[in-house]
Amino acid sequence: MSGPVEHIGVVGAGTMGAGIAQIAALGGYETRLHDPVPAALETGIDRLYKSLAKGATKGLWSEADADAASGRVGAAGRLADLGECDLVIEAAPEDLGLKRELFDALAQACSKDAILASNTSSLPITAIAAELPRRERVVGMHFFNPPALMKLVEIVATADSSAEALDATTAVGVRMGRTPIRAKDSPGFIANRLARPFTLESLRMLANGVADAATIDRICRGVGFRMGPFELIDLIGLDVNLSVARSFYAQGGGPDRWRPSTIQESMVTKGDLGRKSGRGFYDYSDPPALITPVPSHQVARERDNGPGKMTLEPAELETINSAAPQIVPRLIAQIANEAAFALEEEVGSPDDMNTAMRLGFNWPLGPIELSEKLGAARAAELLEELRAKHGEAYRPAPGLAAAAA
Ligand code: NAD
Repeated sequence: MSGPVEHIGVVGAGTMGAGIAQIAALGGYETRLHDPVPAALETGIDRLYKSLAKGATKGLWSEADADAASGRVGAAGRLADLGECDLVIEAAPEDLGLKRELFDALAQACSKDAILASNTSSLPITAIAAELPRRERVVGMHFFNPPALMKLVEIVATADSSAEALDATTAVGVRMGRTPIRAKDSPGFIANRLARPFTLESLRMLANGVADAATIDRICRGVGFRMGPFELIDLIGLDVNLSVARSFYAQGGGPDRWRPSTIQESMVTKGDLGRKSGRGFYDYSDPPALITPVPSHQVARERDNGPGKMTLEPAELETINSAAPQIVPRLIAQIANEAAFALEEEVGSPDDMNTAMRLGFNWPLGPIELSEKLGAARAAELLEELRAKHGEAYRPAPGLAAAAA
């Protein structure tokens, strides 16, 4: 790179690409959006213009800013039209072969100094860049959905990424109005990795009969999470969440604490995929059949009322009060443990871990803050107790055990 980034290309005009192009244009960058599917490109551009106008009516930015941003965006029918871009952000489908071919084509279409970034959630940036010349200019820029509203961007460094490329993409993130954090190229980077125990440990508690899904969800809302783990999995889709779990397990070399849940596997096999199939941990049919711990309309009511204002029967409240002391420390101990493993692997700094979970997942506190609240000694002791009962999924990270000692 010879100067600051001024022209940004975004490749893939779907959910993420159109949103990333929007915040690039709002940040003052000349932005070109490309998609090989003409209809997808047209829809993406159209959605971007509409979203800019809607944001102005909501007061998120001024009408003048929306107009100026619209004027900075153009459609690129061919990759060759991105030749002038100093930075290209790829938001194409999550397929390693496709991304490798695309990066190869981008390396040919763009100047040799252009930075090439991927928005992948789960593929190693190192693998995407493996066959490229000049791998020092390849980084990850992982935005969150929807990009226009989610403030976090993870700037992902491979062993080859240059300080110049990392600094330049960090500056771009800031100018786009995001909060950039630095992550090492590793499974799930920071945010998705530290989010793993929230759902996985909850699934294990369900499997161990500690409490039912609705009770765990309500307790999590009660301590300040926006959604409980089971509502969240239903929203994401059990199949999507399971494929993430499998990808982590495979990329991590099969550690016990990342082993996918057999409950979830059998629900996916049955076709209970969550909201989209009408049934997951909750029932979304209308009227709800009595097959789940909590009918969906009640969850919806709790969501409308917000955490802390739940309308619960006295018996339900008693269940929650008696289960919470087992559930909350156990969940936090596993979050603290994942953070300790990630720190040992130098995936990111403690501050960036806290920022990642507050901004990327709306957690009330970051994982390091949660760990400090519980205390390393209590977390390690609890994990050892659980390990004696349930096995190696609870092995404390050496750093956590040392801190406890
Ligand atoms: P999407 O399916 O909404 O959009 C993908 C777009 O890429 C489509 O418009 C498609 O026409 C286009 N495309 C297909 N083949 C292409 C090719 N060869 N070159 C360029 N474009 C091509 O997908 P999405 O949800 O926007 O995800 C895109 C990327 O962003 C993925 O890597 C995903 O992991 C990542 N991501 C997604 C989310 C999310 O919540 N959706 C969040 C963070 C990151």
